[in-house]
Amino acid sequence: MGASFITKEVSRERNMDNLMQDFPLRVTSIIDHAAKYHPDRKIISKDTKGKITNTNYKEICRNSKKVADGLHKLGVKKGDVIGVMAWNNHSHLEVWYGIPGLGAVNHNLNPRLFSEQLIYIINHANDKILILDLDLIPIIEKVIDECPTVEKLIILCSKADLPSTKFSDVISYEELLATGSENFQWVSGDETDACGICYTSGTTGNPKGVVYTHRSNTLHALTQAAPDMLNLSSTDTIMPVVPLFHANGWSIAYTAPLVGSSIVFPGGDLSPSSLYNMLERGVTITAAVPTVWLLLLNFLQSEEKELSTLKRVVIGGSSCPRSVIEDFQNKYGVRVLHAWGMTELSPLGTICSFKPETESLNESEKLDIQETTGHPPFGVDLKIVDDNGKEIDWDGITQGDLYCKGAAVVKKYLKMEELAVDGDNWFNTGDVATIDKNGYMRITDRSKDVIKSGGEWISSIDLENAAVGHSDVAEAAAIGIPHPKWDERPVLVVVTNDGKNADKDSIISHVSERVAKWQKPDDVIFVDEIPHTATGKISKLELRKLVANLDYKHPDLR
Ligand code: ADP
Repeated sequence: MGASFITKEVSRERNMDNLMQDFPLRVTSIIDHAAKYHPDRKIISKDTKGKITNTNYKEICRNSKKVADGLHKLGVKKGDVIGVMAWNNHSHLEVWYGIPGLGAVNHNLNPRLFSEQLIYIINHANDKILILDLDLIPIIEKVIDECPTVEKLIILCSKADLPSTKFSDVISYEELLATGSENFQWVSGDETDACGICYTSGTTGNPKGVVYTHRSNTLHALTQAAPDMLNLSSTDTIMPVVPLFHANGWSIAYTAPLVGSSIVFPGGDLSPSSLYNMLERGVTITAAVPTVWLLLLNFLQSEEKELSTLKRVVIGGSSCPRSVIEDFQNKYGVRVLHAWGMTELSPLGTICSFKPETESLNESEKLDIQETTGHPPFGVDLKIVDDNGKEIDWDGITQGDLYCKGAAVVKKYLKMEELAVDGDNWFNTGDVATIDKNGYMRITDRSKDVIKSGGEWISSIDLENAAVGHSDVAEAAAIGIPHPKWDERPVLVVVTNDGKNADKDSIISHVSERVAKWQKPDDVIFVDEIPHTATGKISKLELRKLVANLDYKHPDLR
């Protein structure tokens, strides 16, 4: 009797399981949702010739289906990889959904990569077709002979605008759309099917391919839209200045249609005047790396312009100086959302928004908080560990190696044997960070860039952020210079606003007022230009070479 009672209970329990519908998390449901519930939301876009196009989600979805069908008719199959090298424009959004809508994989190509890197990633990912913006043809012409997997090229232009090229098999986007049907049925599949590929920048060794799944992209967009993150809604107009090819385009091409917000695409012209013009088309929230905003703020100041609709600016990719946060908020009434992310995280790791514990602080303390990169969304978990792998307490002071795990975090790089994570799924970010008692994380350095002086770590980021607050400094980088007593000492490499050498002592004393005494830079090297990576970050690798070529020695060694 007892046994039959248990069996009955278990079976009743079993009948409770799995009674909700299956809803595969596929990115095509994002664009379907936008087309059905936000059909007329504006998508404004600037093309390579400066022409402005107005479209909406209904049209975008319709064209995405034509792209999927057109590619299908060209022989593209589920799992094939399509390389896309394009600026932020509406056609890019159409192929962004058309490719995974066919079950194929969208490989984002950064036009700023060196030819060797492009050849490597196109071959490594096995790109079958390349889709390009018109003005990017010369970049691919240089490498195409060494990319044997590429069978065809599609140029994002009309048939009439298609130029003669060295490609043997090329068609215009207009021709592709003409062959496709808007009634194409999205190809179904598993949530965990590959959806897109983005390669890391490869500053050390070859770039590594991060393959996002339909599921990871959908979950990531859901969590990124949340109030404490982007707080994005259908009443917003978002302008992604960060290119769609950089770190999954910060997921904006998924998050915006998921909530039905309008989009303004700025195209390839990222000059401050062009960006300003596009921002004034009703943009309420925008996103890019700090250098873009430094230039825009200079432009606003010198041209005496105001920002009439902008409310929030997401700043990430590298650390955001306090002066940029202050200028946006105090001069233009635009709230800064400082964010940290990585290609491997799809990319959002943390965003700095206020919690009840920080909302009540005074203005200066709030700025201290905003200099941190904030706290993670649901689906991202963080820890910092010491040299022995032991987890460090969250005191906001002690630095450690930053590890991350989550629903949209890499597990394994494309075609690599070993896992990218340890046995507990923790991914070593390569960043060094502190976390405070409220869970606010602060990146202090890349582990390989940290300056080691007398057994202590000096944050190169802190020195750089302090230096750009000096009125003569346009850009600054801090590096460790070998020193016989201290191992390394910090030295600043500076580009000045007027291109001339400025007063070294004044820059050093400006920085020393903002950091601990022993962290004060020992010298300033003035240069015409600081080298950058393909994603616009300071390339410490190239910078060290540049300083070595100058035959620079620490003042104590001269
Ligand atoms: P790429 O180097 O190609 O731009 P990622 O965008 O993936 O590739 O770079 C991620 C790295 O950028 C992080 O590991 C971190 O070092 C740096 N980073 C991103 N956001 C911030 C931030 N807000 N502050 C400091 N560093 C940041």
